[in-house]
Amino acid sequence: MDYYSNEISHLVEELSSLPGIGPKSAARLTFHLIRQPKEDVKRLADALIEAREHVQYCKKCYTVTDRELCPICRNEGRNHRVVMVVENPRDLAAYEKTGKFEGVYHVLGGAISPMLGIGPEDIRLKELVQRLEDEVDEVIVATNPSLEGETTALYISKLIKPIGIKVTRIASGVPVGGDIENIDEVTLLKALEGRVEI
Ligand code: ZN
Repeated sequence: MDYYSNEISHLVEELSSLPGIGPKSAARLTFHLIRQPKEDVKRLADALIEAREHVQYCKKCYTVTDRELCPICRNEGRNHRVVMVVENPRDLAAYEKTGKFEGVYHVLGGAISPMLGIGPEDIRLKELVQRLEDEVDEVIVATNPSLEGETTALYISKLIKPIGIKVTRIASGVPVGGDIENIDEVTLLKALEGRVEI
């Protein structure tokens, strides 16, 4: 990329390091950005910095939030005895959009993947077990229907059942290999309603 100025090559390089952005998209974004008014670009840059500086993990469920506890964990109207375990905050958002789940969440921050070298200690399972010291009636495992998600679901079941808490898995209405965040609300609700004990 010697034919671009250093600044442009640098920006293309930085943008290409983002997930889902290849060199072509990065170049397209770069040339779009340098044509924008300076104030617009500054607003975008400020938003990036602000988000990174103020966002933290909820002390209870580990979703991203800007306070010690996220709005869901702070909400006393939610059923804190039902905990839905999801892989990431985007999956939490997908279930929240259905507007029908009244429990709370636990965000693992990934799934067990021997292939990628991600073990049980690399996701927030210890924190999940700690949370169960509070009164919890049911843990709903809503990890993705992928090999990693299923492996994680089984692991959680083995971990939690001996404590005497009911563990359920969302139904297979969610297509195998599909990402929860990309699934429509009706299918997600059906999967939740049809959950089975594991
Ligand atoms: Zn929370």
